Amino acid sequence: MPIPTDVIFDLQRRLGYAPPSHVLAATLRDIFPGRIAVVSSFGAESAVLLHQVAAIDPATPVLFVDTGRHFPETIDYRDRLIAHLGLSGVRSVGPSAEEVARLDADLSRATWDPDGCCAFRKIEPLSRALAGFDAWISGRKRFQARTRLDLPVFEIDGEHVKVNPLASWSEGDVAAYVARHRLPPHPLVAQGYLSIGCAPCTSIVAPGEDPRAGRWRGFDKTECGIHRSTSSPTGK
Ligand code: SF4
Repeated sequence: MPIPTDVIFDLQRRLGYAPPSHVLAATLRDIFPGRIAVVSSFGAESAVLLHQVAAIDPATPVLFVDTGRHFPETIDYRDRLIAHLGLSGVRSVGPSAEEVARLDADLSRATWDPDGCCAFRKIEPLSRALAGFDAWISGRKRFQARTRLDLPVFEIDGEHVKVNPLASWSEGDVAAYVARHRLPPHPLVAQGYLSIGCAPCTSIVAPGEDPRAGRWRGFDKTECGIHRSTSSPTGK
């Protein structure tokens, strides 16, 4: 059933300007207990959100969409971060072998139909995995891209509430948090990858570019589709 807009208004009014740790504690423990999951790419800044989630409940369900096209460094980093933070609820979801064979047998689809590739490798597996939850948490922030400047803390995403506790954090906030808690970096960040997705669709970012400028270069595409346009209390 679609989420009524006044539910989002109320959440935004109560928690839309609260610190991320407060938003996470309230949504994980009080508002959606047992009915909320974190979705993480285990990318460049994922450790910040996951560290705060682990401090509240390390058994929180964390969904990692394993597209089959990730950098090997991301898979290694995922496993290292799970151990470092003591996360016990991480689940990998992704396309079936039959879907890969039928829809992208030669692994070229990202080069000629990235929307179709994201649809079967990311959007559909995540949609199946989220069916058992009422809400999910993302680590998106406004500074990451011009397309995210209006990102609210609470959104309606179809039949789910989507929570973006770090929406207002700056690049400096993220860096300070990483340093304070000595969080391990994704190994590709040092090579200039500031936003890390699948290997065929991720490139190094030049100085002055948006952190997400290296995603789907050459295509008129800025999001994979799991963060589709959603309703927010501001109507943005
Ligand atoms: S990011 Fe690229 S490789 Fe990954 S699912 Fe989307 S199009 Fe395919």
